[in-house]
Amino acid sequence: MIRTLKKLFQKKPKQTTFIYCEKCRNELCSSDSFVSDTYDEKGDNHILYKCSKCGHVCDYNFDVAPVPIKWSELRSGA
Ligand SMILES: [Zn+2]
Repeated sequence: MIRTLKKLFQKKPKQTTFIYCEKCRNELCSSDSFVSDTYDEKGDNHILYKCSKCGHVCDYNFDVAPVPIKWSELRSGA
């Protein structure tokens, strides 16, 4: 898990990322809530976080903007 997180930060060395759980506002990056960093068959990036406090799962895209965007927002066009 630690190694995976380090890899994620090395990919975006100048970026300080904070992601807050939409249910309980837990900060996910610093609370060991990272699950996986994968690409789907279309080449879209999916960063999965599962909140270490409440268990809420979020699927983010780190590629489309300087800040992570939730896939649920991308798909709804927000
Ligand atoms: Zn939470």
